[in-house]
Amino acid sequence: MNDLYVLYRGPLASCNYDCPYCPFAKRVDPPSLLRADKSDLLRFASWVEETTDRRLSVLFTPWGEGLTRSWYRETIVRLSHLPHVARVAIQTNLAARVDWLSTADLSVAALWATYHPGQVTRERFLARCRQLDSLGVRYSVGVVGVPSHYEEAAALRSALPPSVYLWINAAEGHAYSADEERRWTALDPRFGDSVRPHRSLGLPCHAGETAISVLGDGTVRRCHFISEPLGNLYDGSWRAALRPRPCTNITCDCHIGYVHLKPLGLRDVYADGLLERVLPAPTSSAVSLPFPVARGNVVPGR
Ligand code: SF4
Ligand code: SF4
Repeated sequence: MNDLYVLYRGPLASCNYDCPYCPFAKRVDPPSLLRADKSDLLRFASWVEETTDRRLSVLFTPWGEGLTRSWYRETIVRLSHLPHVARVAIQTNLAARVDWLSTADLSVAALWATYHPGQVTRERFLARCRQLDSLGVRYSVGVVGVPSHYEEAAALRSALPPSVYLWINAAEGHAYSADEERRWTALDPRFGDSVRPHRSLGLPCHAGETAISVLGDGTVRRCHFISEPLGNLYDGSWRAALRPRPCTNITCDCHIGYVHLKPLGLRDVYADGLLERVLPAPTSSAVSLPFPVARGNVVPGR
């Protein structure tokens, strides 16, 4: 069966956190928008249910936080039990309870969790991770690599089980010195993928061929970063639009995009952990830090 990777993003943009690097911090969605988000999500879930001629892998990438909303939790459980769904995952700050995952098929459901120092204590975040471990949930954990996060990220790496991959996203607008890059790479062996944008113009990309991005109204685009629509999910026009094609952007600098850029070969690296950013076991073991974790190792602020 043909694989199709689907990134879904509805209108929801509210979040319970207040991260200084995020435009959606503490945003509140009006009830009408929440109703629309729920109805769009349920329509999408029905499409997934009915689209049995593809092996589907779905990643929810809401602007804000989805797991504080019952309809995201229920949809993940619902989709996880479908035989033609290989993966259903969501990007989350892990603030909401996670016990509902016990009703999901945990060979399919997964989380892409981000630790936001300053919004939650490390202890509380780690307690959530331990809950996921005891439930047997697949998840990755990540941190935005702003210099002031370094010490927390290092402590998190030390505290997490070696089997949990800790990824670091390069902070937008920050140019990393060679020394900074080395220090962050000591925490995430794949930091090099994130630290500089990838030149992508004219290069072949799976996006638009075996990966698509879907908006709440069903608009299908090849990825979140190229706005030209390929068609609509609900009238079937997306099917005829899928084909091999080169990237039309100069660069691609977001993990959920460049994992599909063919020359990088990242589908082989992440294998079935591609959407939730889980590295296969041999390369996800804990990395030993080449220096002690102490205040003096914090990269100075920009
Ligand atoms: S948790 Fe995510 S969505 Fe919420 S404010 Fe922080 S970065 Fe933004
Ligand atoms: S390289 Fe990035 S921007 Fe270009 S088509 Fe692929 S995902 Fe989209």
